[in-house]
Amino acid sequence: MNLVLVEHAEGVATEVSLQALALARGLGGPVHALLIGPGGREAAAGVPADVAHVAEHEALEAFAPDAWAAIVCDLAGRTGATAIVAPGSEHATDAMARAAARLGEPLAANCTSVTPGDPIALTRVRWGGSLLEEALLHAGRALLTVAPHAVAGAEPGSPGAVEPFTPALADADLVVRVRDRLAPAAGGVSLADAKVVVSGGRGVGSAEGFAPIEDLAGLLGGAVGCSRAVTMAGWRPHTEQVGQTGNKIAPEIYIACGVSGATQHIAGCKGAKRILAVNTDAEAPIMSVADYAVVGDLHEVLPAISAAIRKA
Ligand code: FAD
Repeated sequence: MNLVLVEHAEGVATEVSLQALALARGLGGPVHALLIGPGGREAAAGVPADVAHVAEHEALEAFAPDAWAAIVCDLAGRTGATAIVAPGSEHATDAMARAAARLGEPLAANCTSVTPGDPIALTRVRWGGSLLEEALLHAGRALLTVAPHAVAGAEPGSPGAVEPFTPALADADLVVRVRDRLAPAAGGVSLADAKVVVSGGRGVGSAEGFAPIEDLAGLLGGAVGCSRAVTMAGWRPHTEQVGQTGNKIAPEIYIACGVSGATQHIAGCKGAKRILAVNTDAEAPIMSVADYAVVGDLHEVLPAISAAIRKA
C-alpha cells in the first residue's frame, strides 16, 4: 500500500498533490491519502484515493513540520504503507525530510517517474533542474517527493472512504511552528501568476534602487522579482526571490536587471518564454540565456523604457 501526503488549500487538494497521487498509482497497489489540518475533510471529498485519512487536531491550524512528520510516520506504521509519496512543495519536503530521519530511511526528492520493484527504479531532478538522475531506491520503506509539474496530476474523484482521526502529538512535535505569514502587498500581481516579471539583482545597488524596477513592473502590470544576493542584503523579501531556493516562475517575459545569471538563479526563471537582460557587463552569464539584452546601466535604461511606454 502507498501512502500519499496530500496538501490542500481552501478545501481543495493542490495540483502538486494530485501529481503525487498519480505517481503513487504508478507504484501499483492501493493508494491511501493523508490530509492534515483544517479543511481536510472538505478536500478529501475530491481526492481519488482508496482511503482518505484526515488528521484533525487543534494544534494543526498552522504548519508544524515535526507534527506532520509524526503523523506521516504514525499512519504509515498503522496502515503498513511500503511507500510514502508527497508533493515536492516547501512544506511537504520539510515534513518528509523529518519523517525520513525519524524512520531512518532515505528520501528520494523531486522524482519525475518511478518503476515499481525492489528496489524502486526512479528518475529525479537534481542540481536545480540541470540534471536528471536515474537511481535505485534501496529502502525498507520508500519515501519520495514528486518534482512539481513533472507528471500529469490524477483526475479529482471521490475516495473509497474518508477516515478522520485525532493524532497523538507530543510537545516536541510542536516546537517548530509557523507563527506568522508575510502576504504580498494587497492588489499586487503574484509572482506565480505574473505574465511579466521585472527582477533586480545586486547591480541595483540598494533597496531604494528598486524604484525604477517597481515603476516598470507597475506599468507592465507585472510583478517584482529579485536574486538571492538581494534578499541576503535585506533589500527585498524572500517571497520575491527567483531561483533554486526561491520561486520557480514561467512568465511571458522575464526582465532581469543587474542580475548576473548564476545557475541557481536561472533554475527559477528558465520557464520564462523570453528573457530580457539589462546588464553593464556584456559577458555576464545571463547574456547566454537571454533572448534580448541591453548592455548598460539599469538606472539609465529602465527610466528610459518607462518613459517610452508612458509616451506611447
Ligand atoms: P551578482 O552575481 O553580484 O551580479 C550582479 C550583476 O549586476 C553583475 O552581472 C553586474 O555586471 C551587474 N551590474 C552591476 N551594476 C549594474 C548596473 N548599474 N546596471 C546593470 N547591471 C549592473 N541565487 C538566486 O538568485 N536565487 C536562488 O534561489 C539562489 N539559490 C542558491 C542556492 C544555493 C545552494 C547557492 C549556493 C546559491 C544560490 N543563489 C541563488 C546565489 C547565486 O549563486 C548567486 O550568488 C546570486 O544569484 C547572485 O545574485 P546577483 O546576480 O544579483 O549578483
